[in-house]
Amino acid sequence: MSQPDTNDTLFERARAVIPGGVNSPVRAFRAVGGTPRFIRRAQGAYMWDAAERRYIDYIGSWGPMILGHGHPAVVEAVQSAVGEGFSFGAPTEREIELAEAILTLMPSMEMVRLVSSGTEAAMSALRLARGATGRKVIVKFEGCYHGHADALLVKAGSGLATFGNPTSAGVPPEVVQHTLVLRYNDIAQLEEAFATQGQDIACVMIEAIAGNMNFVRASQAFAQRCRELCTQHGALLVFDEVMTGFRVGLTGAQGVLGITPDLTVLGKVIGGGMPLAAFGGPRDIMEQLAPLGPVYQAGTLSGNPVATACGLATLREIAKPGFYATLAARTRKLVAGLKSAADQEGVPFSVDSEGGMFGFFLLDQLPQDYGSVMKSDGARFNTLFHGLLDRGVYIAPALYEAGFVSAAHSDEDVAATVEAAHEVFKELG
Ligand code: PLP
Repeated sequence: MSQPDTNDTLFERARAVIPGGVNSPVRAFRAVGGTPRFIRRAQGAYMWDAAERRYIDYIGSWGPMILGHGHPAVVEAVQSAVGEGFSFGAPTEREIELAEAILTLMPSMEMVRLVSSGTEAAMSALRLARGATGRKVIVKFEGCYHGHADALLVKAGSGLATFGNPTSAGVPPEVVQHTLVLRYNDIAQLEEAFATQGQDIACVMIEAIAGNMNFVRASQAFAQRCRELCTQHGALLVFDEVMTGFRVGLTGAQGVLGITPDLTVLGKVIGGGMPLAAFGGPRDIMEQLAPLGPVYQAGTLSGNPVATACGLATLREIAKPGFYATLAARTRKLVAGLKSAADQEGVPFSVDSEGGMFGFFLLDQLPQDYGSVMKSDGARFNTLFHGLLDRGVYIAPALYEAGFVSAAHSDEDVAATVEAAHEVFKELG
Protein backbone atom coordinates (compact mmCIF):
# COMPACT_ATOMS: atom_id res chain seq x y z
CA MET A 1 0.00 0.00 0.00
CA SER A 2 1.31 3.44 -0.87
CA GLN A 3 2.15 5.86 1.95
CA PRO A 4 -0.32 8.74 2.44
CA ASP A 5 1.04 12.05 1.18
CA THR A 6 2.40 14.16 4.05
CA ASN A 7 0.24 17.05 2.88
CA ASP A 8 -2.90 14.90 3.21
CA THR A 9 -1.92 13.88 6.72
CA LEU A 10 -1.27 17.46 7.74
CA PHE A 11 -4.53 18.64 6.18
CA GLU A 12 -6.45 16.08 8.17
CA ARG A 13 -4.75 17.18 11.39
CA ALA A 14 -5.31 20.85 10.53
CA ARG A 15 -9.01 20.36 9.83
CA ALA A 16 -9.48 18.90 13.27
CA VAL A 17 -8.29 22.07 14.98
CA ILE A 18 -8.57 24.97 12.50
CA PRO A 19 -11.80 25.71 10.58
CA GLY A 20 -11.30 24.28 7.09
CA GLY A 21 -7.71 23.52 8.04
CA VAL A 22 -6.52 27.01 7.06
CA ASN A 23 -6.15 30.44 8.58
CA SER A 24 -7.27 32.29 5.44
CA PRO A 25 -9.97 30.74 3.22
CA VAL A 26 -8.36 30.86 -0.22
CA ARG A 27 -5.51 28.65 1.00
CA ALA A 28 -7.95 25.74 1.30
CA PHE A 29 -7.96 24.88 -2.46
CA ARG A 30 -11.74 24.73 -2.24
CA ALA A 31 -12.35 26.19 -5.69
CA VAL A 32 -9.83 23.95 -7.43
CA GLY A 33 -10.19 20.84 -5.25
CA GLY A 34 -7.41 18.70 -3.81
CA THR A 35 -5.16 19.06 -0.81
CA PRO A 36 -3.47 22.34 -0.04
CA ARG A 37 0.30 22.14 0.02
CA PHE A 38 1.73 22.64 3.48
CA ILE A 39 4.87 24.65 2.96
CA ARG A 40 7.91 23.67 4.96
CA ARG A 41 10.42 26.21 3.66
CA ALA A 42 11.09 28.63 0.85
CA GLN A 43 14.13 30.19 -0.77
CA GLY A 44 14.36 32.59 -3.70
CA ALA A 45 11.65 31.75 -6.25
CA TYR A 46 10.93 28.32 -4.75
CA MET A 47 8.86 26.75 -2.02
CA TRP A 48 9.05 23.17 -0.78
CA ASP A 49 6.04 21.37 0.57
CA ALA A 50 5.84 18.91 3.44
CA ALA A 51 6.62 16.05 1.04
CA GLU A 52 9.77 17.92 -0.11
CA ARG A 53 8.34 18.68 -3.56
CA ARG A 54 9.63 21.93 -5.03
CA TYR A 55 7.43 24.58 -6.65
CA ILE A 56 8.20 27.74 -8.58
CA ASP A 57 6.16 30.18 -6.51
CA TYR A 58 3.94 32.73 -8.29
CA ILE A 59 1.92 33.55 -5.18
CA GLY A 60 4.73 35.05 -3.12
CA SER A 61 2.58 35.07 0.03
CA TRP A 62 -0.11 36.85 -2.06
CA GLY A 63 2.21 39.68 -2.99
CA PRO A 64 4.68 40.64 -0.27
CA MET A 65 7.66 38.54 -1.39
CA ILE A 66 8.80 40.82 -4.20
CA LEU A 67 12.47 40.00 -3.53
CA GLY A 68 11.77 36.29 -3.41
CA HIS A 69 12.02 34.26 -0.22
CA GLY A 70 14.87 34.69 2.25
CA HIS A 71 16.65 37.61 0.60
CA PRO A 72 19.97 37.85 2.52
CA ALA A 73 19.69 41.59 3.32
CA VAL A 74 16.17 41.11 4.67
CA VAL A 75 17.08 38.03 6.69
CA GLU A 76 20.00 39.88 8.23
CA ALA A 77 17.84 42.90 9.14
CA VAL A 78 15.18 40.71 10.72
CA GLN A 79 17.69 38.62 12.66
CA SER A 80 19.37 41.69 14.02
CA ALA A 81 16.00 43.26 15.00
CA VAL A 82 14.88 40.08 16.75
CA GLY A 83 18.01 40.21 18.88
CA GLU A 84 17.00 43.67 20.10
CA GLY A 85 13.50 42.72 21.20
CA PHE A 86 10.19 41.78 19.57
CA SER A 87 7.77 44.45 20.65
CA PHE A 88 7.87 47.43 22.96
CA GLY A 89 4.52 49.20 22.72
CA ALA A 90 6.52 52.43 22.58
CA PRO A 91 7.83 54.43 19.62
CA THR A 92 11.06 53.43 17.88
CA GLU A 93 13.42 55.17 15.46
CA ARG A 94 12.82 52.44 12.89
CA GLU A 95 9.16 53.47 12.58
CA ILE A 96 10.30 56.96 11.60
CA GLU A 97 12.76 55.51 9.10
CA LEU A 98 10.08 53.36 7.50
CA ALA A 99 7.60 56.25 7.41
CA GLU A 100 10.26 58.47 5.83
CA ALA A 101 11.12 55.79 3.27
CA ILE A 102 7.47 55.31 2.29
CA LEU A 103 6.82 59.05 1.99
CA THR A 104 9.95 59.62 -0.08
CA LEU A 105 8.97 56.88 -2.50
CA MET A 106 5.25 57.74 -2.70
CA PRO A 107 4.97 61.51 -2.87
CA SER A 108 1.16 61.68 -2.72
CA MET A 109 1.42 61.17 1.05
CA GLU A 110 2.71 63.69 3.58
CA MET A 111 2.11 61.52 6.62
CA VAL A 112 1.57 57.84 7.17
CA ARG A 113 0.40 55.62 10.00
CA LEU A 114 1.62 52.06 10.37
CA VAL A 115 -0.72 49.19 11.23
CA SER A 116 -0.50 45.40 11.03
CA SER A 117 -2.73 44.24 8.15
CA GLY A 118 -4.26 45.54 4.94
CA THR A 119 -7.71 45.03 6.43
CA GLU A 120 -6.84 47.28 9.32
CA ALA A 121 -5.32 49.90 7.03
CA ALA A 122 -8.35 50.03 4.70
CA MET A 123 -10.78 50.05 7.62
CA SER A 124 -8.87 52.89 9.28
CA ALA A 125 -8.63 54.90 6.04
CA LEU A 126 -12.38 54.54 5.67
CA ARG A 127 -13.00 55.79 9.21
CA LEU A 128 -10.62 58.68 8.60
CA ALA A 129 -12.40 59.59 5.35
CA ARG A 130 -15.75 59.61 7.11
CA GLY A 131 -14.36 61.50 10.11
CA ALA A 132 -12.58 64.11 7.98
CA THR A 133 -15.58 64.77 5.70
CA GLY A 134 -18.36 64.28 8.27
CA ARG A 135 -20.17 62.13 5.68
CA LYS A 136 -21.43 58.55 5.72
CA VAL A 137 -21.62 57.09 2.22
CA ILE A 138 -18.69 55.19 0.77
CA VAL A 139 -18.38 54.09 -2.82
CA LYS A 140 -16.65 50.84 -3.67
CA PHE A 141 -16.61 48.79 -6.85
CA GLU A 142 -17.71 45.25 -7.58
CA GLY A 143 -14.78 42.85 -7.52
CA CYS A 144 -12.52 45.12 -5.44
CA TYR A 145 -11.42 43.68 -2.11
CA HIS A 146 -10.37 45.98 0.69
CA GLY A 147 -9.97 43.45 3.48
CA HIS A 148 -12.69 42.00 5.63
CA ALA A 149 -13.99 44.95 7.64
CA ASP A 150 -17.80 44.77 7.67
CA ALA A 151 -18.55 47.93 5.69
CA LEU A 152 -16.22 46.89 2.87
CA LEU A 153 -17.18 43.25 2.59
CA VAL A 154 -19.72 43.64 -0.19
CA LYS A 155 -19.15 42.14 -3.65
CA ALA A 156 -15.53 42.03 -2.70
CA GLY A 157 -14.00 39.81 -5.36
CA SER A 158 -11.69 36.88 -4.97
CA GLY A 159 -12.24 35.47 -1.50
CA LEU A 160 -16.00 35.81 -1.52
CA ALA A 161 -16.32 34.91 -5.20
CA THR A 162 -14.46 31.68 -4.57
CA PHE A 163 -17.05 30.73 -2.03
CA GLY A 164 -20.02 31.95 -4.05
CA ASN A 165 -21.25 34.59 -1.59
CA PRO A 166 -21.72 38.22 -2.59
CA THR A 167 -21.44 39.31 1.05
CA SER A 168 -20.46 37.54 4.24
CA ALA A 169 -22.96 36.23 6.75
CA GLY A 170 -22.63 38.15 9.99
CA VAL A 171 -22.69 41.55 8.29
CA PRO A 172 -26.07 43.10 9.13
CA PRO A 173 -27.65 45.05 6.23
CA GLU A 174 -27.69 48.18 8.42
CA VAL A 175 -23.90 48.03 8.62
CA VAL A 176 -23.52 48.19 4.85
CA GLN A 177 -26.43 50.52 4.15
CA HIS A 178 -24.02 53.37 3.49
CA THR A 179 -21.81 51.28 1.21
CA LEU A 180 -22.63 52.01 -2.41
CA VAL A 181 -21.33 49.29 -4.71
CA LEU A 182 -20.84 50.33 -8.33
CA ARG A 183 -19.61 48.62 -11.48
CA TYR A 184 -15.87 48.91 -12.11
CA ASN A 185 -15.02 51.02 -15.16
CA ASP A 186 -18.63 52.26 -15.50
CA ILE A 187 -18.31 56.05 -15.77
CA ALA A 188 -22.04 56.68 -16.30
CA GLN A 189 -22.99 54.85 -13.10
CA LEU A 190 -20.35 56.73 -11.13
CA GLU A 191 -21.58 60.07 -12.47
CA GLU A 192 -25.14 59.19 -11.56
CA ALA A 193 -24.12 58.25 -8.02
CA PHE A 194 -22.42 61.61 -7.55
CA ALA A 195 -25.31 63.46 -9.17
CA THR A 196 -27.79 61.97 -6.71
CA GLN A 197 -25.70 61.51 -3.54
CA GLY A 198 -22.58 63.62 -4.08
CA GLN A 199 -23.04 65.68 -0.91
CA ASP A 200 -23.16 62.49 1.23
CA ILE A 201 -20.19 60.62 -0.27
CA ALA A 202 -17.22 60.52 2.12
CA CYS A 203 -14.93 58.61 -0.20
CA VAL A 204 -14.47 56.49 -3.27
CA MET A 205 -12.25 53.53 -2.51
CA ILE A 206 -10.72 51.69 -5.45
CA GLU A 207 -8.10 49.17 -6.45
CA ALA A 208 -6.95 51.19 -9.45
CA ILE A 209 -5.37 48.05 -10.86
CA ALA A 210 -7.65 45.44 -9.38
CA GLY A 211 -5.96 42.25 -8.23
CA ASN A 212 -8.89 40.63 -6.50
CA MET A 213 -10.84 39.85 -9.63
CA ASN A 214 -7.70 38.42 -11.17
CA PHE A 215 -6.17 41.44 -12.95
CA VAL A 216 -8.39 44.22 -14.26
CA ARG A 217 -7.20 47.76 -14.90
CA ALA A 218 -9.26 50.85 -14.28
CA SER A 219 -9.33 52.66 -17.61
CA GLN A 220 -7.51 55.98 -17.61
CA ALA A 221 -10.82 57.77 -18.25
CA PHE A 222 -12.54 55.99 -15.36
CA ALA A 223 -9.74 56.66 -12.87
CA GLN A 224 -9.61 60.28 -14.02
CA ARG A 225 -13.37 60.64 -13.56
CA CYS A 226 -13.11 59.21 -10.02
CA ARG A 227 -10.54 61.92 -9.27
CA GLU A 228 -12.59 64.74 -10.81
CA LEU A 229 -15.88 63.80 -9.18
CA CYS A 230 -14.30 63.40 -5.73
CA THR A 231 -12.66 66.82 -6.04
CA GLN A 232 -15.86 68.48 -7.30
CA HIS A 233 -18.01 67.04 -4.54
CA GLY A 234 -15.58 67.25 -1.61
CA ALA A 235 -15.21 63.47 -1.29
CA LEU A 236 -11.86 61.77 -0.75
CA LEU A 237 -10.35 59.47 -3.35
CA VAL A 238 -8.79 56.47 -1.62
CA PHE A 239 -6.47 54.22 -3.60
CA ASP A 240 -6.21 50.81 -2.00
CA GLU A 241 -2.67 49.92 -2.99
CA VAL A 242 -2.26 47.04 -0.56
CA MET A 243 -1.53 44.82 -3.55
CA THR A 244 -0.26 47.30 -6.15
CA GLY A 245 1.87 49.48 -3.86
CA PHE A 246 5.58 48.92 -4.63
CA ARG A 247 4.44 45.96 -6.75
CA VAL A 248 3.36 47.41 -10.11
CA GLY A 249 6.14 50.00 -9.83
CA LEU A 250 7.89 52.19 -7.30
CA THR A 251 4.95 54.63 -7.16
CA GLY A 252 2.17 52.06 -7.34
CA ALA A 253 -0.97 52.22 -9.45
CA GLN A 254 -1.14 55.97 -8.81
CA GLY A 255 2.19 56.32 -10.59
CA VAL A 256 1.09 54.10 -13.47
CA LEU A 257 -2.12 56.11 -13.95
CA GLY A 258 -0.64 59.50 -13.08
CA ILE A 259 -3.43 60.21 -10.61
CA THR A 260 -2.96 61.55 -7.09
CA PRO A 261 -5.40 60.08 -4.56
CA ASP A 262 -6.19 61.78 -1.26
CA LEU A 263 -5.51 58.70 0.83
CA THR A 264 -3.40 55.66 0.01
CA VAL A 265 -3.68 52.26 1.67
CA LEU A 266 -0.58 50.06 1.66
CA GLY A 267 0.33 46.57 2.86
CA LYS A 268 2.02 43.41 1.56
CA VAL A 269 5.36 44.61 0.04
CA ILE A 270 5.94 47.30 2.70
CA GLY A 271 6.19 44.53 5.29
CA GLY A 272 8.34 42.26 3.11
CA GLY A 273 6.39 39.25 4.44
CA MET A 274 5.87 40.46 8.02
CA PRO A 275 2.53 41.75 9.37
CA LEU A 276 2.75 45.40 8.41
CA ALA A 277 0.50 47.80 6.53
CA ALA A 278 -0.10 51.54 6.41
CA PHE A 279 -2.36 54.33 5.30
CA GLY A 280 -1.40 57.87 4.53
CA GLY A 281 -2.25 61.15 2.90
CA PRO A 282 -2.05 64.92 3.33
CA ARG A 283 -1.03 66.29 6.72
CA ASP A 284 -4.31 68.10 7.42
CA ILE A 285 -6.30 64.89 6.94
CA MET A 286 -3.86 62.60 8.76
CA GLU A 287 -3.78 64.97 11.74
CA GLN A 288 -7.45 64.20 12.26
CA LEU A 289 -6.23 60.91 13.77
CA ALA A 290 -5.85 60.29 17.51
CA PRO A 291 -3.94 61.46 19.50
CA LEU A 292 -4.20 64.80 17.64
CA GLY A 293 -7.71 64.61 16.24
CA PRO A 294 -11.09 63.02 16.87
CA VAL A 295 -10.73 59.92 14.65
CA TYR A 296 -9.67 57.00 16.84
CA GLN A 297 -7.25 54.38 15.58
CA ALA A 298 -4.71 52.27 17.49
CA GLY A 299 -2.80 48.96 17.60
CA THR A 300 -0.79 46.99 20.16
CA LEU A 301 1.60 45.70 17.50
CA SER A 302 1.46 48.69 15.13
CA GLY A 303 4.94 49.60 13.88
CA ASN A 304 6.33 46.40 15.34
CA PRO A 305 10.15 46.60 15.44
CA VAL A 306 10.78 43.28 13.66
CA ALA A 307 8.16 43.97 10.98
CA THR A 308 9.50 47.46 10.35
CA ALA A 309 13.04 46.09 10.02
CA CYS A 310 11.78 43.61 7.42
CA GLY A 311 9.84 46.29 5.55
CA LEU A 312 12.71 48.77 5.56
CA ALA A 313 15.21 46.24 4.26
CA THR A 314 12.76 45.31 1.52
CA LEU A 315 12.13 48.92 0.50
CA ARG A 316 15.89 49.59 0.35
CA GLU A 317 16.30 46.76 -2.16
CA ILE A 318 13.38 47.73 -4.40
CA ALA A 319 14.43 51.38 -4.50
CA LYS A 320 17.71 50.43 -6.18
CA PRO A 321 17.99 51.72 -9.76
CA GLY A 322 16.65 49.36 -12.41
CA PHE A 323 14.82 47.09 -9.99
CA TYR A 324 11.37 47.49 -11.56
CA ALA A 325 12.63 47.57 -15.16
CA THR A 326 14.16 44.11 -14.64
CA LEU A 327 11.16 42.78 -12.73
CA ALA A 328 8.68 44.08 -15.32
CA ALA A 329 10.73 42.65 -18.19
CA ARG A 330 10.80 39.23 -16.54
CA THR A 331 7.07 39.36 -15.90
CA ARG A 332 6.39 40.39 -19.51
CA LYS A 333 8.53 37.52 -20.69
CA LEU A 334 6.43 35.13 -18.63
CA VAL A 335 3.08 36.42 -19.87
CA ALA A 336 4.25 36.59 -23.50
CA GLY A 337 5.47 32.99 -23.23
CA LEU A 338 2.18 31.81 -21.75
CA LYS A 339 0.19 33.64 -24.42
CA SER A 340 2.26 32.19 -27.24
CA ALA A 341 1.96 28.64 -25.83
CA ALA A 342 -1.83 29.02 -25.44
CA ASP A 343 -2.14 30.40 -28.99
CA GLN A 344 -0.18 27.48 -30.38
CA GLU A 345 -2.62 25.05 -28.78
CA GLY A 346 -5.74 27.05 -29.70
CA VAL A 347 -6.62 27.82 -26.07
CA PRO A 348 -8.47 31.14 -25.63
CA PHE A 349 -6.14 33.21 -23.49
CA SER A 350 -5.79 36.85 -22.55
CA VAL A 351 -3.10 38.19 -20.29
CA ASP A 352 -1.86 41.45 -18.81
CA SER A 353 0.88 42.57 -16.46
CA GLU A 354 2.32 45.63 -14.78
CA GLY A 355 5.62 45.57 -12.93
CA GLY A 356 5.76 42.31 -11.00
CA MET A 357 2.02 41.57 -11.10
CA PHE A 358 0.15 39.67 -13.79
CA GLY A 359 -3.16 38.05 -14.54
CA PHE A 360 -4.49 35.73 -17.21
CA PHE A 361 -7.93 34.62 -18.28
CA LEU A 362 -9.03 31.63 -20.34
CA LEU A 363 -11.01 34.13 -22.38
CA ASP A 364 -10.34 35.76 -25.76
CA GLN A 365 -10.46 39.25 -24.35
CA LEU A 366 -9.37 40.90 -21.12
CA PRO A 367 -12.41 41.63 -18.95
CA GLN A 368 -13.16 45.21 -17.91
CA ASP A 369 -15.37 44.46 -14.93
CA TYR A 370 -16.35 41.82 -12.42
CA GLY A 371 -19.32 40.53 -14.44
CA SER A 372 -17.04 39.65 -17.36
CA VAL A 373 -14.47 38.07 -15.03
CA MET A 374 -17.18 35.80 -13.70
CA LYS A 375 -17.68 34.40 -17.20
CA SER A 376 -14.29 32.65 -16.99
CA ASP A 377 -14.39 28.89 -17.28
CA GLY A 378 -13.70 27.56 -13.78
CA ALA A 379 -13.37 23.90 -14.79
CA ARG A 380 -10.69 24.63 -17.39
CA PHE A 381 -8.86 26.86 -14.93
CA ASN A 382 -8.83 24.01 -12.42
CA THR A 383 -7.28 21.68 -15.00
CA LEU A 384 -4.63 24.28 -15.69
CA PHE A 385 -4.00 24.85 -11.98
CA HIS A 386 -3.53 21.17 -11.17
CA GLY A 387 -1.55 20.53 -14.34
CA LEU A 388 0.89 23.25 -13.31
CA LEU A 389 1.01 22.16 -9.68
CA ASP A 390 1.83 18.59 -10.72
CA ARG A 391 4.66 20.02 -12.79
CA GLY A 392 6.06 22.06 -9.89
CA VAL A 393 4.53 25.45 -10.69
CA TYR A 394 2.44 27.06 -7.97
CA ILE A 395 -0.09 29.67 -9.07
CA ALA A 396 -3.03 30.97 -7.03
CA PRO A 397 -5.66 28.26 -6.47
CA ALA A 398 -8.54 30.40 -7.77
CA LEU A 399 -9.14 32.15 -11.06
CA TYR A 400 -10.04 35.40 -9.32
CA GLU A 401 -6.50 35.99 -8.11
CA ALA A 402 -3.57 37.83 -9.64
CA GLY A 403 -0.07 36.35 -9.90
CA PHE A 404 3.25 37.69 -8.69
CA VAL A 405 6.77 37.47 -10.05
CA SER A 406 9.72 38.23 -7.77
CA ALA A 407 13.23 39.49 -8.39
CA ALA A 408 14.41 35.95 -7.60
CA HIS A 409 12.61 34.40 -10.60
CA SER A 410 15.17 33.68 -13.28
CA ASP A 411 14.79 33.37 -17.05
CA GLU A 412 15.17 29.62 -16.51
CA ASP A 413 12.24 29.63 -14.07
CA VAL A 414 10.14 31.53 -16.59
CA ALA A 415 11.10 29.11 -19.38
CA ALA A 416 10.28 26.09 -17.18
CA THR A 417 6.92 27.63 -16.31
CA VAL A 418 6.02 28.28 -19.93
CA GLU A 419 7.05 24.74 -20.87
CA ALA A 420 4.86 23.29 -18.11
CA ALA A 421 1.93 25.48 -19.17
CA HIS A 422 2.41 24.45 -22.80
CA GLU A 423 2.02 20.79 -21.84
CA VAL A 424 -1.21 21.57 -19.99
CA PHE A 425 -2.53 23.75 -22.84
CA LYS A 426 -2.12 20.70 -25.11
CA GLU A 427 -4.61 18.90 -22.87
CA LEU A 428 -6.94 21.90 -22.86
CA GLY A 429 -6.71 22.74 -26.58
N1 PLP B 1 -6.76 45.48 0.05
C1 PLP B 1 -6.33 44.77 -1.00
C2 PLP B 1 -6.30 45.40 -2.35
C3 PLP B 1 -5.91 43.45 -0.84
O1 PLP B 1 -5.50 42.74 -1.90
C4 PLP B 1 -5.93 42.88 0.45
C5 PLP B 1 -5.51 41.49 0.67
O2 PLP B 1 -5.34 40.71 -0.21
C6 PLP B 1 -6.38 43.66 1.53
C7 PLP B 1 -6.78 44.96 1.30
C8 PLP B 1 -6.41 43.10 2.91
O3 PLP B 1 -5.13 42.92 3.38
P1 PLP B 1 -4.83 41.83 4.54
O4 PLP B 1 -5.07 40.50 3.96
O5 PLP B 1 -3.40 42.11 4.91
O6 PLP B 1 -5.77 42.16 5.66
